[in-house]
Amino acid sequence: MQLPKFIQDKPVREALILGLTGLCIWIVAIEIDLHESIDKFLHAHETWQLDEAFTAINIIGICSLIYAYRRITDLKHEIARRNQAERNIDWLAHHDTLTLLPNRRALEKRDHKAKADTPSVIYCIDLDGFKNVNDLVGHQGGDLLLKEVAHRLKTMLPSAQAYRLGGDEFLVIADRTPATDCMRLGHRILRLLSAPYDVGGMTSEIGASIGFALYPEDSADFSDAIHCADVAMYVAKKSGRNGVFGFERIMEDRVLRRAETEMALKRAIRSDSIVPYYQPLIDLRTGDIRGFEALARWEAGPNHIIPPSDFIALAEDAGLIVELSERLLKAACRDAVNWPPETILAFNISPLQLSDKQMPLRIMNVLLETGFPAHRLELEITETALVRDMDSAGAILGELQAAGIKIALDDFGTGYSSLSQLSKFRFDKIKIDRSFVTGFETDKKREDIVRAILGLGQGLGISTTAEGIEENHQLDFLKSVGCDFGQGYLFGKPVSGEDTRRLLARHARPNKNAGTDAA
Ligand code: C2E
Ligand code: CA
Ligand code: CA
Repeated sequence: MQLPKFIQDKPVREALILGLTGLCIWIVAIEIDLHESIDKFLHAHETWQLDEAFTAINIIGICSLIYAYRRITDLKHEIARRNQAERNIDWLAHHDTLTLLPNRRALEKRDHKAKADTPSVIYCIDLDGFKNVNDLVGHQGGDLLLKEVAHRLKTMLPSAQAYRLGGDEFLVIADRTPATDCMRLGHRILRLLSAPYDVGGMTSEIGASIGFALYPEDSADFSDAIHCADVAMYVAKKSGRNGVFGFERIMEDRVLRRAETEMALKRAIRSDSIVPYYQPLIDLRTGDIRGFEALARWEAGPNHIIPPSDFIALAEDAGLIVELSERLLKAACRDAVNWPPETILAFNISPLQLSDKQMPLRIMNVLLETGFPAHRLELEITETALVRDMDSAGAILGELQAAGIKIALDDFGTGYSSLSQLSKFRFDKIKIDRSFVTGFETDKKREDIVRAILGLGQGLGISTTAEGIEENHQLDFLKSVGCDFGQGYLFGKPVSGEDTRRLLARHARPNKNAGTDAA
């Protein structure tokens, strides 16, 4: 037999049993005149002092009742305190203490089914340029900015749920009607977040990459719809910053393919399938080989060589460039240490590496490990690297130069601020971009620019290298205007370490053919 629900409750059940037992005893006591019998008994045995004992028992009973009541009250308080503590811990576990927004855990535990009937739009937001703010105004400034982001999101979309998923990543879930223009709303969020921030007296600006997905259209499973918004955000991020992208099915394929390529690249780096090739740098006055520029090549299979234009940017994006560069430099130094004394090794540095404060230390470690002398190493950097973060780039370059390493400004003339870079940093070499060398015979202006650059180099006491020399008349012109070094297919294409050794061996023979036979 099923007991009524209230009786299943233990305290109620015990109160009932005790009440019923008390009632029965009371009825029996009345029936047998218990009290009178006890009275008679006490009177009859006055000398035993039983009445005092009874009084004591009564007092103890009342005191115990009061005591029990007090303890019950205490217990109630304790339970309330514990419940509060539990609620606090629970809140902490499900919220971000900085912005006070619910966190990723809260999102995972969200009862998606409870709102299954409401169509919604999910925005995945990743801030762009937040790291720079952190670097510039410190973590406290960064914290202020994140708080302000949360505040703006809550103020703009009071009925939506905003989450901070970690770092500079936010998520907003908003109910929508058929009339909601989700793309427009996304752009409104973007504008809102891109407005300047006051962080401790300084003004900072950031951007955002926003991806959104529609529930239930993009996926009938809410967690999967969140994943769709994430994929759209990833695509937004990869397509340059400050964009809003709605989820499309083909995005998933693209993301998957990209992930596969990244994996392949990672494997290639770790298995040393990406190796340095070397292209000779010729002293135009003597025709001798002055050194070699290391150029990365991915040896993907027999006769399958992938050029750096196909993987350097990917390695930068995937956060693999530091590892790739370190391995390449190590391999290049190991090769170069066996070249004739004073042959220099030119090595390309990615702009991203100039914000890595550990970079000089990493390079010094490679030099130490391979025994390659610092004064024979020449690092080539493009100016985009310097524009991004002048101060930290300047400090890093200074450290490298102090160690004896030379710094060359690569692709000179292609950026928009080459000249201003020259006044800010002390470069050891300028490399004139190939586009000026290739086109000057048909374009008088380029010829003038080459002359002007060479004049600039001579004025500043910086040596110059011309890239991309393919024809003899280009070489003649460059020699006639006093260019110091030259590089190009006319002298030799980039070749493997083994071929470079052979080339050097040929040059070392006494009857060598005045340098330019490197081609
Ligand atoms: P870069 O530093 O300007 O390198 C010169 C590029 O011009 C090389 O292309 C070289 O093969 C090519 N080149 C040299 N002489 C001639 C010529 O006479 N005619 C023509 N048409 N091209 C010539 P490559 O090897 O494909 O490298 C492309 C870019 O990839 C490099 O430009 C450099 O910015 C980057 N890169 C290469 N290796 C590395 C690396 O190890 N690390 C980093 N961060 N970037 C690298
Ligand atoms: Ca270069
Ligand atoms: Ca170049």
